[in-house]
Amino acid sequence: MIIDLHNHTPLCNHAEGNIDEYIEQAIKVGTKYFGFSDHAPMDFDYKYRMNFSQMQEYENNILKAKEKYKDQIKILLGYEVDYIKGFIDARVLDAKVDYLIGSVHFIDKWGFDNPEFIGRYENEDIDSIWQKYFDTIEEMANSGLFDIVGHLDLIKVFKFMPKKDINIIAIDALKAIKKAGMAIELNVAGYRKPVKEAYPSYTLLKQIYKLKIPITFASDAHKPEQVGLYNSEIMSLAKSVGYTQCVIFTKRKMEFIDF
Ligand SMILES: [Zn+2]
Ligand SMILES: [Zn+2]
Repeated sequence: MIIDLHNHTPLCNHAEGNIDEYIEQAIKVGTKYFGFSDHAPMDFDYKYRMNFSQMQEYENNILKAKEKYKDQIKILLGYEVDYIKGFIDARVLDAKVDYLIGSVHFIDKWGFDNPEFIGRYENEDIDSIWQKYFDTIEEMANSGLFDIVGHLDLIKVFKFMPKKDINIIAIDALKAIKKAGMAIELNVAGYRKPVKEAYPSYTLLKQIYKLKIPITFASDAHKPEQVGLYNSEIMSLAKSVGYTQCVIFTKRKMEFIDF
């Protein structure tokens, strides 16, 4: 993918490899704009993210790499921020970054994408779980705090699919995303998970295209060798619904790029 805005670093405690290795892999696979968006700190779920005291180190490391590789690739700096009410922190929102990805990994503090807590899917109606998830996405978009929606339909990760029409479950969230002027990333991490498809699905992407919502691309790499994987799949997916352009963000400003 020529644009790849969602990638991690070892500071989040569940990624491997160093920054240079991610970038060198990105150069190798032909990426033109490569963004780091490591899990932002918050006072919850400490195990899977950097501390507030590490933000400076993270930002400095990326800015140094941006300078080092400037003749080969454009490096962008961001954070992937968890949207959980009560835990959104001004230190992250005010960070001097190119963009913030808003992601929902928790429904009422349930880490629904963590295999450790998979049992909870059996305790509740699947349609109601999906609706709660998309209601949270809608709330996140309405907050107006973020630039990109991370892995839009992450709730499908374990392939517990709803009985109700996904387009109906997601429509209010999509309208809120459109109204907020956000972009949606096409994220390949789903290919590595039980659901074995991209986020978002083809069905949702058709609707997203109809609403004229801009897209970006994401390896969501937690290892250097994951950078650029499933490139042809994700580019064909984007083209199959009609997209010919995607977006990047620099200093929180959106810019369209042909692909
Ligand atoms: Zn992660
Ligand atoms: Zn995520």
